[in-house]
Amino acid sequence: MRKEGAAVVGSGPNGLAAAVTLARAGIPVTVFEAAETIGGGTRTGEVVMPGVVHDICSAIHPMALASEFFQRFELTKRVEFVVPEASYAHPLDGGPAAVAYRDLDRTIGELGRDGEAYRRLFAPMLARLEGVLDFGLGGSMLRWPKSLPAAIAMGLRTLEQGSPLWNARFREDAAPALISGVAAHSIGTMPALSTAAVGLVLSVTGHAGGWPVPVGGSQAISRALADDLLAHGGRIETGTRIRDIGELDSFSVKVFDTSARDLGRIAARELPDAYLRELRRFRPGNSAAKVDLVLDGPIPWADARIAQTPTVHLGGTRSEIAFAEGEVNRGRHPDRPYVLLAQPTEFDPARNPAGLNAVWSYTHVPNGSTFDVSERVIAQIERFAPGVRDRILDCRVTTAAELGEYNPNYFGGDISAGGVQLRQLIARPSLSAHPWQTPGRGIYLASSSTPPGPGVHGLAGWHAARLVLSKEFSKSLPDLSVSPE
Ligand SMILES: Cc1cc2nc3c(=O)[nH]c(=O)nc-3n(C[C@H](O)[C@H](O)[C@H](O)COP(=O)(O)OP(=O)(O)OC[C@H]3O[C@@H](n4cnc5c(N)ncnc54)[C@H](O)[C@@H]3O)c2cc1C
Repeated sequence: MRKEGAAVVGSGPNGLAAAVTLARAGIPVTVFEAAETIGGGTRTGEVVMPGVVHDICSAIHPMALASEFFQRFELTKRVEFVVPEASYAHPLDGGPAAVAYRDLDRTIGELGRDGEAYRRLFAPMLARLEGVLDFGLGGSMLRWPKSLPAAIAMGLRTLEQGSPLWNARFREDAAPALISGVAAHSIGTMPALSTAAVGLVLSVTGHAGGWPVPVGGSQAISRALADDLLAHGGRIETGTRIRDIGELDSFSVKVFDTSARDLGRIAARELPDAYLRELRRFRPGNSAAKVDLVLDGPIPWADARIAQTPTVHLGGTRSEIAFAEGEVNRGRHPDRPYVLLAQPTEFDPARNPAGLNAVWSYTHVPNGSTFDVSERVIAQIERFAPGVRDRILDCRVTTAAELGEYNPNYFGGDISAGGVQLRQLIARPSLSAHPWQTPGRGIYLASSSTPPGPGVHGLAGWHAARLVLSKEFSKSLPDLSVSPE
């Protein structure tokens, strides 16, 4: 059989980024998507109440702005983003919330006695922004960094914030809580180098490009990618789950936007045993469980400034959050969990009927959990927004197990497609400077099971496509802009 073109398995942001890059280079591409709709973790729908839309997975997109792939793709010319001055807020009991503004000086001005310590932590990284983003999002960790001073600034701070020294520079609760609220995104124990590294890079984006809300919801991002793919001759087949690599025999290249775990199953007969063992060693992480709400108006935050930001981290002080995350790691459901909350309605009012507020939130739970977390999550919101309970019109819980059924990449609700511990950041999923290329002939992995890991950045797909172009087709990278020269 004559083999030609590329198959991309999965239409998440990484799969679509790979497909767009290949199609732009003139390679015939077909995307196979198991679900009836495209988008993977970037879908938006009426999942709680008819007429009211919620982002089903991702809601806030700092990495979409920071991503080199999306910059080349000129995403901001294709999707409208609202970028508020306040990137995220972190309420605390009985006092003002800590707020991270894009403006570092304004943030520092509200952090009391710890303001200057916070400045000394972040200013050197912001001064080397490009190098820090390269360190965090640039690709495999087994490579020489673009900027050594940036890598040193980042590395020293990661060592501090990822060790028992993490509180040494601070005297109050607000600044460390603000940092830990971001570090906890990576679903891991604290302090640890992996959570610290993720937290610092994301915090830097909060003080740089900001944490934006895409108008219309995260599906606007996958729609923009799919439109470009179709305009360049690509095809998308939804409702087609690939279970065996033999189904892709007519393609010379296969790019998997699946979890590393599923790649090992689907392509087992074309991958060497040693590599399959590496894939099996690559462990799922703990999970998310989602609670989506519809309110009859804004959340009545005790500190009214929290309404100025779409993203809120709930859970109290740094030590409370570390304890809650530790409980999840010990296989338990914490009584007072860490909660990530998004309130995009205020920033994109056209999404929903006037007066209704779509609130998106999730918390962390052990992998595979079927526990209904709604009471505990709502209690954490009520703690910092008394009276919120009386404003709830509807609520939908998605357990970790259900998230795993919704998207095969999220095994047991692991939304990172592989835990984000230090070992799995370095060997993601294998120890290689080019982990997107597998030892199987023409087989590539492009999902968040590869660097730079989870998030809507398209970078894993782009790195995989770059390798495909150079190794399989001897082609260079195409122009991805809206109107190529
Ligand atoms: C609840 C939740 C909240 C999140 N919040 C944010 C956020 O605010 N900001 C952010 O940046 N990131 C967020 N994320 C993470 C982000 O959504 C993911 O990291 C990102 O979508 C990963 O992209 P991907 O392309 O690697 O995989 P995915 O987006 O997971 O897409 C994989 C696709 O492949 C398909 N697929 C898998 N196996 C097969 C197969 N065998 N055959 C055919 N199709 C297959 C799946 O159906 C899916 O559509 C969140 C995730 C979740 C679940």
